Amino acid sequence: MNIIFIAPPAAGKGTLSDKLVSKYNYKHLSTGDLLREEIKKQSDLGKRIDEIISKGELVSDEIITELLKNELVQIKDEKFILDGYPRNIAQAEILKNLFEEIGINNYIVIYLDLEKELAMKRALGRVVCSKCGTSYNTYFKNFMPEKDGICDKCGNQLKRRSDDTEETFNKRFDTYLEVTSPVLEYYKKINKLNIVDANVESADVFKIVEQILEGKNVDNK
Ligand code: AMP
Repeated sequence: MNIIFIAPPAAGKGTLSDKLVSKYNYKHLSTGDLLREEIKKQSDLGKRIDEIISKGELVSDEIITELLKNELVQIKDEKFILDGYPRNIAQAEILKNLFEEIGINNYIVIYLDLEKELAMKRALGRVVCSKCGTSYNTYFKNFMPEKDGICDKCGNQLKRRSDDTEETFNKRFDTYLEVTSPVLEYYKKINKLNIVDANVESADVFKIVEQILEGKNVDNK
């Protein structure tokens, strides 16, 4: 069963995806990661994307869809997690058509419901390994790296994301409320939506997601 995660910024989509990848062999397709890869290339496109992301705005549907399509085609025969797309109703429609075109019909949508204060704390405390991408959080005891600023797994430097500032977080959250949250109604209407309360420990969120994947009707609210 393929998974589409929809959530406010810093809700823990990445952490959950990592767990699903290591336990169930999912492929993790994060549109935010695809964009950050493009930025690393320092191409003209990458520079334009960097400006947009740093302001907390959404990249155009055309750019992100093009990047996504290339990846989706490659992993269509594997189990995948789509993290960060769709982010508006237009993208939900585009995705529906893309899935039809590529022949993907087996998926569920999981909405991680998180309060703004907690999401902000998770964003402002987040540090990510510049090499392997492992994420830590300096505000939560269970998620701190052993050594300040150093990745436990590979020993490389931990960095803050350029869009994890208070100002940009607020903008991203507003954008989420305004343009992304209507997507929930879209998936509810076609019976694909599962809602998970993500205001709890990530290990508990993971257990609930596992139950949903087993086909159980879960409501942890
Ligand atoms: P994320 O890693 O999912 O938090 O995404 C980081 C940033 O990448 C977002 O704040 C947007 O600027 C951009 N982004 C990611 N996915 C999309 C998308 N589907 N459409 C437009 N912009 C996106």
